[in-house]
Amino acid sequence: MSLKISNRAEQIVQAEIRAMSIECEKVVGINLAQGVCDTEVPLPVRIGAKKAIDEGINSYTRFDGLEELRKAIARKMHSYNRITADPDSEIIVSSGSTGAFYCACLALLNPGDEVILFEPYYGYHINTLLAVGAVPAYVRLHPPDWSFSPEDIEKVVTPRTKGIMVCTPANPSGKVFSGLELQWIAEFAVRHDLFVFTDEIYEYFLYDGNKHISPGSFPGMAERTITISGLSKTFSITGWRIGYSVSHRRWAQMIGYINDLVYVCAPAPLQFGVAYGLLELGPEFYSEICAQYALKRDKICNAIAKAGLKPCIPQGSYYVLADVSHFPGHTSKEKAMYLLSKTGIATVPDEAFFHIPSNQNYVRFCFAKRDEEIDEACIRLERFSF
Ligand code: PLP
Repeated sequence: MSLKISNRAEQIVQAEIRAMSIECEKVVGINLAQGVCDTEVPLPVRIGAKKAIDEGINSYTRFDGLEELRKAIARKMHSYNRITADPDSEIIVSSGSTGAFYCACLALLNPGDEVILFEPYYGYHINTLLAVGAVPAYVRLHPPDWSFSPEDIEKVVTPRTKGIMVCTPANPSGKVFSGLELQWIAEFAVRHDLFVFTDEIYEYFLYDGNKHISPGSFPGMAERTITISGLSKTFSITGWRIGYSVSHRRWAQMIGYINDLVYVCAPAPLQFGVAYGLLELGPEFYSEICAQYALKRDKICNAIAKAGLKPCIPQGSYYVLADVSHFPGHTSKEKAMYLLSKTGIATVPDEAFFHIPSNQNYVRFCFAKRDEEIDEACIRLERFSF
């Protein structure tokens, strides 16, 4: 065949999580590698979706989503995120937050544009940037609290920089960006005239009294911030593919055109289910998530520590990075395989989260699992002591 292989697709690899899941299956282990939450879908969300199917909400919706859902998101953005968005022109419902971010990048970035990311990063952020021909620039966060300074971001800016990406609460570090850090980022973005892309999919998973702050809520930031979120995690509906972006109408219009082109619309009855959930579920639902996941976090972090590994206690999201530098092996991958062989627990090695290996070796545990699975993982970890 004489067809040239596409370089774009060649750069994009999602190897580690999948590879570890396959290794886990081989030993019939406990898969704490993949971030799939298997807790129950809230009743109003299920009722809403069923009702929508029965009542005929099965056709294409407007390209930016059902009015009911856009209005419900606008209300939630106002009360929870402190961002005012017009549901008619500033909210684009998409195929998960993944689709929302992809559409935003396609709409707003040109090949060669540089986007600053904090690492450890979420692999889809990098791969989405690469897929649209953008160039990631990296700022390494400092463990164990994953801090950075204003100088760290200033060092990587160039005339080609078009945006900075924030993920708060973060996957994989569990970092919740503080008001001060977001203030630095806001000032930096204004100074260099940059977009701020912010992935807030874990906005309701917060521990130890940490508060979620949306970068788009800072004065003057709404016009340059693309807020990405969705309900995959909060409502345990990762397979439904309902997410959204919120941005100034100028950007939302362009993102909407791309969303129409790529997805036409998000699944109609499922949009309705999510709208129903947003309207029906009160604050107690969201505080229950924090309480429930805080218990899971504490259990797994204690067991990790008892096993002789150093967990970086997450402030939010549902992942924990643990230092396995002292394990046999040269790479994090070898160390994750060692842990799997000793305990039957699959984790993700940090090759998936750093563009060049870190000095320390980390593996990521996901604790969005049923309690039985967490308990079994804890027993195995506590039995194993390095
Ligand atoms: N953003 C982050 C930071 C994630 O960790 C994930 C899933 O693991 C997603 C987005 C995917 O979200 P969605 O299912 O809404 O596409």
